[in-house]
Amino acid sequence: MSTRILVVEDEPAIRELVAVNLRHAGYRVDGVDSAEAARAAIARALPDLIVLDWMLPGESGVDFARALRADARTGTVPIVLLTARAHEGDKLLGFERGADDYITKPFSTRELVARVRAVLRRATAAAEASAGATDEAPIEIEGLRLEPAAVRVSAGDARLSLSPTEFRLLHFLMRNADRAVSRNRLLDEVWGDHVYIDRRTVDVHIRRLRLALAPSGHDRLIETVRGEGYRFARR
Ligand code: CA
Repeated sequence: MSTRILVVEDEPAIRELVAVNLRHAGYRVDGVDSAEAARAAIARALPDLIVLDWMLPGESGVDFARALRADARTGTVPIVLLTARAHEGDKLLGFERGADDYITKPFSTRELVARVRAVLRRATAAAEASAGATDEAPIEIEGLRLEPAAVRVSAGDARLSLSPTEFRLLHFLMRNADRAVSRNRLLDEVWGDHVYIDRRTVDVHIRRLRLALAPSGHDRLIETVRGEGYRFARR
């Protein structure tokens, strides 16, 4: 069965451009023009990925992304946000509200397809791990427990909610505990195909990971190593 992508974009020309290029890349694509129409489409069939425009009439793409993340059925569906705003603060806001990646308009269709492919690859890797396709042992450090096979992270009795990217990032950091790892190394290990991803993306995801770990205080274990990258430090 082919991979299903839902494109949510109110501008017909851009929606069609995105849909045509993703279909050409072999994906099954549905296009809708609002968050409301997207909800109806998702109710009929759960997509494997959602390309979501930031500026939609009515409910904005960012608010819709947050609602999707909060819903158990759609919580793990990867979201690529389309944004006309190149402003750094807005990018951070989009990430914190649940997008897995963003593309700034105007974008090249090659870049769009490459980004979508990379996000899907990360999500598939997480799903395979979830299906038990990994025999990697759980890791527990300072009360923070990561179970690769179950794709589960918990602090004491509390289960933490991480996106596929944050899970892979934390897994790699914990496997390399007490060692400083560079942003480039993280891009290689966590993002893999990162031709269109800049090093700043690592910082954004580290920030999200720290937010997710903050309630139990485990965010303090992720240290910034000046001029180098990051380190998961045992205390
Ligand atoms: Ca729009």
